[in-house]
Amino acid sequence: MPLTGQNYIASELSAEGSDVFFSVDPRSKASGSLPFHNATRAEVDRAVAAAVAAFGEIRHYPSSKIAGFLDEVAEQIEALGDDLLHTADSETGLGLPRLTGERARTTGQIRAFANLLREGSYLRPIINTEGPGQPAIKQMQFPLGPVAVFAASNFPFAFAVAGGDTASALAAGCPVAVKAHPGHPATSELFAVALNAAVAAQGFPAGTFSLLQGNGINVGQWLVENDGIEAVGFTGSLRGGRAIYDAASRRPRPIPVYAEMGSVNPVVITQAALAARAEEIAEGLVGSVTMGTGQFCTNPGLILLEDSGASRDFISAVTQKMEAAPAGVLLNEAIAAGLQSAVSGTATRPQIEVLTGGEAISESEYFCYRNTVMQTTAAAIRADDRLQVEHFGPVTLFVLCQDMDDLGAAVDALEGNLTSTVHAEETELDSIGDLLHQLREKAGRVIWNGFPTGVAVVHAMQHGGPYPATTAPGTTSVGMNAIYRFMRPIAFQNVPEALLPAALQDANPLGILRLVDDVYTDGAI
Ligand code: NAP
Repeated sequence: MPLTGQNYIASELSAEGSDVFFSVDPRSKASGSLPFHNATRAEVDRAVAAAVAAFGEIRHYPSSKIAGFLDEVAEQIEALGDDLLHTADSETGLGLPRLTGERARTTGQIRAFANLLREGSYLRPIINTEGPGQPAIKQMQFPLGPVAVFAASNFPFAFAVAGGDTASALAAGCPVAVKAHPGHPATSELFAVALNAAVAAQGFPAGTFSLLQGNGINVGQWLVENDGIEAVGFTGSLRGGRAIYDAASRRPRPIPVYAEMGSVNPVVITQAALAARAEEIAEGLVGSVTMGTGQFCTNPGLILLEDSGASRDFISAVTQKMEAAPAGVLLNEAIAAGLQSAVSGTATRPQIEVLTGGEAISESEYFCYRNTVMQTTAAAIRADDRLQVEHFGPVTLFVLCQDMDDLGAAVDALEGNLTSTVHAEETELDSIGDLLHQLREKAGRVIWNGFPTGVAVVHAMQHGGPYPATTAPGTTSVGMNAIYRFMRPIAFQNVPEALLPAALQDANPLGILRLVDDVYTDGAI
């Protein structure tokens, strides 16, 4: 499909600015020839104004109409065919098998939201009928309004233009303006084509979706500062997410920012687990650390164990496997530079030993970094926050602890994470509980005898966690509950039946599950 390099503002192509950038193939470091136009402030403002206008219509749509639109989006993405896979591969180096799986996940999550809407009880109707001295109160969830989405570099499909944030915002009934990631502008444009086709096919207002290209912070800042934006979904670095959170908070009318940022995903391995299956854990750990060249927010970056001969043998086995594993392709120059700077910063701290790697492979024709293993102590983790910095790549840091109390104290000193993991044996269930629940306080998902990479898109998933993993620990960016980031409850007091939405009417015309006078029922009142 021929690309234009332009922005898609409410279904119209637009390239008002002269500032351009190019796609780069991370395998050859070669730039493409098509210039992509950074959106101008006027274009950003136009996209938001169109989204505000679109919201005026969409907020009246029944869930079934939005569900039909989401199904159409999934079909239009599939209609892009293998062109999408090859384009993304040439911009990210992630490889066709991974991208094929990620496309299925992306269309799957869009269709899962469509199903959620058709089932209907996601509106969470809660009704307290009138009683002595108590008015009738009826509440349900409503869309927030236009949402700004920042696409991630490492998931060009699943956390990008039509990824989880966009899918959940559209499902909620919110128009979306996406700031594309400059690491994959051509891929982003293909998704814009698919979304625009869905908007046209389903007769949605043009401002339902806009794509803003940009390779600098301006476009994102203008977007967040625009008073028409009601919420932000972001996946990326702590620095970027925090800057956007701060910008949103500085607005005269602050708005929520759902930023999913860095995480070191601590893993505790007990001596009993090592005795039972050291080789299996070492294989799994190396697979998880190097998967996707380590460019996952769930990469296991901090491994805590008691200091012992078995632990040291285990670390040596992991180090050898990391040395033997090929150095994968990194997404782009900025990621490569960021990784180099993060590892160098850690390596120069006291009490850090680099066991292997710790440097870029400068002679390589592609962006890459040596698989890296470092080692430190629990005392160092407690003394130095800097050791909890995310190394976004194939890097892990072992933490040797004097005993389980020392390990527990190190866990106490950890910041918020997306996940925490325990490898232990069934024989330890009586003794490991406290530690597991200590780790629970530090993360959004607790994993038993597994690895944190791989996030299932299911209702029960929680992909979030305390700051600095996210700016909103009560929410998730994966799974169906992600929709509630872009909705808010509104209660109606003594409002006449004829003026209430169908979900709150006594007859329950939608036939959905509601909490009526403290009892869940799908019946009429
Ligand atoms: P990033 O640098 O945070 O950038 C993400 C997006 O935010 C880009 O569109 C970027 O725009 C924009 N942005 C960054 N700073 C901004 C600011 N001050 N104001 C407005 N917009 C801003 O993320 P990245 O490019 O993916 O960099 C990789 C780093 O992000 C990794 O090192 C890793 O730590 C983290 N990461 C985390 C996850 C996760 O799942 N949690 C996923 C991917 C990456 P420009 O690029 O156009 O400047």
